[in-house]
Amino acid sequence: MSPEVKTGIVAFGITAGGASLLGFIVLGVAAPKIALATLAILLCVLFVLGSVGGLIALIVSITGIGTECPECGKKWAKVIVRSKIVEQKKCYGLVSRSAYSRSSGSISGTTSHSGSVDHCSISGTTHSSGSTSWEERVPVIRTTYLMYYKCKYCYAKWTEEKVKEVEDFDIERE
Ligand SMILES: [Zn+2]
Repeated sequence: MSPEVKTGIVAFGITAGGASLLGFIVLGVAAPKIALATLAILLCVLFVLGSVGGLIALIVSITGIGTECPECGKKWAKVIVRSKIVEQKKCYGLVSRSAYSRSSGSISGTTSHSGSVDHCSISGTTHSSGSTSWEERVPVIRTTYLMYYKCKYCYAKWTEEKVKEVEDFDIERE
């Protein structure tokens, strides 16, 4: 073997060795970084999924309120079979209004309609925190519905009364 070849092999060896060593170092440094990044991404994904899942679970559990079956207690069991209007009458109600968008008004008061004094149900609460609030006397239509429900799991049947009070905008024209 000529010294040139020897030198060449040594040079090759050094270069190759150096390159592979450098490669190993790069790999060794980069690999945990990749793993860490992957872990971070996974954690982020899990966190997001967890939050979204939690939020969905919260929303679902909120929407599930009032849908329980009185027999078996399962949620989202309530199915409307039919509804019928039991009573519908016109009342004048006081509606509390407030400048805050958060506040909820309440309808209360009495009405004298065709001689007799009917008491409208005083329902709802006012949430106002020192904001400008005022009361308005508005005509309302109070409708009582009888709702027929059934459970989609155990086929239990029950009824519930629902009262809806809506502002009557047509009454002015009468
Ligand atoms: Zn049921």
